[in-house]
Amino acid sequence: MRRCTRCGSEINDKAKVCPVCGMPVDEERAHLRRMVVIMLVAVIVVAALLVLRSRQLSAGADGLAVPVSTVGIVAMYPLM
Ligand SMILES: [Zn+2]
Repeated sequence: MRRCTRCGSEINDKAKVCPVCGMPVDEERAHLRRMVVIMLVAVIVVAALLVLRSRQLSAGADGLAVPVSTVGIVAMYPLM
């Protein structure tokens, strides 16, 4: 079940508009927002890996590459 963005009443997942106030269900925007969040997390993970790589280049391999990427995947999991 989702909630109407205008009146807050519950809307069936298959409904295209709110049964109470007729507000169109904002599915596309919610999908877009989720995509943006996933993209942001991906960028953060890539940035973390790049920082780690540059650190490894200056200080030698310290074996942190696997744990950091694992943390990234765990951080993304609740958003799926
Ligand atoms: Zn409504």
